Amino acid sequence: MHGNGESMGTVAVHGGERRPGPDGSVVFPIYQGTVYEVEPGTGYHDLPYIRLNSTPSQHYLHDKLAALEGAEAAVATSSGMAAVTTILLSLMKAGDHLIASDCLYGGTHDFLTEHAADLGWSFTFVDAGRPETWPAARTEQTRVFLVETITNPLMRVGLLDQVADFGRQAGITTVIDNTFASPVNFRPLQAGFDVVFHSATKYLGGHSDLVAGAIMGRAELIDRIRLTLNLFGGSLDPHAGFLLARGIKTLALRVQAQNANALALAQFLAAHPAVAAVNYPGLTSHPDHAHAAGLLSGFGGMLSLRLHGGEAAAQALLEAVTLAYAAPSLGGVESLVTRPAITSHAGMSAEDRDRLGITADLIRISSGIEDTQDLIDDYAQALEKIKG
Ligand SMILES: *Cc1c(COP(=O)(O)O)cnc(C)c1O
Repeated sequence: MHGNGESMGTVAVHGGERRPGPDGSVVFPIYQGTVYEVEPGTGYHDLPYIRLNSTPSQHYLHDKLAALEGAEAAVATSSGMAAVTTILLSLMKAGDHLIASDCLYGGTHDFLTEHAADLGWSFTFVDAGRPETWPAARTEQTRVFLVETITNPLMRVGLLDQVADFGRQAGITTVIDNTFASPVNFRPLQAGFDVVFHSATKYLGGHSDLVAGAIMGRAELIDRIRLTLNLFGGSLDPHAGFLLARGIKTLALRVQAQNANALALAQFLAAHPAVAAVNYPGLTSHPDHAHAAGLLSGFGGMLSLRLHGGEAAAQALLEAVTLAYAAPSLGGVESLVTRPAITSHAGMSAEDRDRLGITADLIRISSGIEDTQDLIDDYAQALEKIKG
């Protein structure tokens, strides 16, 4: 319905809104109540009770989240990790097998490596850019193919349309973590994915002040996932849901500004003599640029780089920038800069990190919505300062 990137500004503001709102309110209020009077004949999972994700503020948020991804239905969770674990616990049984991208968010990766075996699941990691390797990974028990739109921290973009096709032909449910792209830059359900999820802690919330997750897809799948969520208990509190719906209203504006800042910073840094490499799918030098340009309507707010001066120079740069906070996480209005080897990927062995290109000197930037020239000037002065 709201298929293209152009209409996202309108969807973000108006999607899922109640018109007229309760008492004519333009902003949907917070229904903090945990329980409501029950219509006779209501089934357990539809009892209006807060952990069952069935109260007025939760219904409102679900409709808003569904509109963002052009989905039939959505459910909010208490975090991004609650989203991915609940999806997998809904779709996988003991004895089942999962194919996953070999470049996953650290928490998702650790959930699989630390808990899949106990749950009776097996899994195979594949390169999401090498479809010729996927058939060999598939078994009779393969139920799920899990990928991410833009990977952390090298910003690789897999052959996502081919992942969706492969899943459809093989009868495997395709699941995608769209956190890094946001629905402004990529709409996975239109590309043929079955389930999309977000850490709403990042771009959807957008202000680094809430923790939440979101799952979108066909009504029948979301119903199944919601029933699992109801029992595992990772439900979202209405206060956090209110902040999330409020953040979503400016999603398109924010992400467009973040796309523009990241591209300008990537171009500036790529041309700077102190910089050895820049990873940003919007640069023609990026290995995935050609197919990313066909898949995405914007290349996102995240980039990473390495300096000729190595690890010491990387640490010095983090200390020399004045606008960006030296902090992990991403997707907020303020710029952040971090070294993944000592933050998001610190739990990994040094050999694994090096194999994946997450070297000790790698610097990752989450672009905020500051003025583009101010960000460039800040990196320019920081690079000048650390030269000596
Ligand atoms: C942060 C993040 C998660 C986990 O989300 P939380 O809200 O921290 O639980 C999952 N996937 C990606 C890509 C993330 O960046």
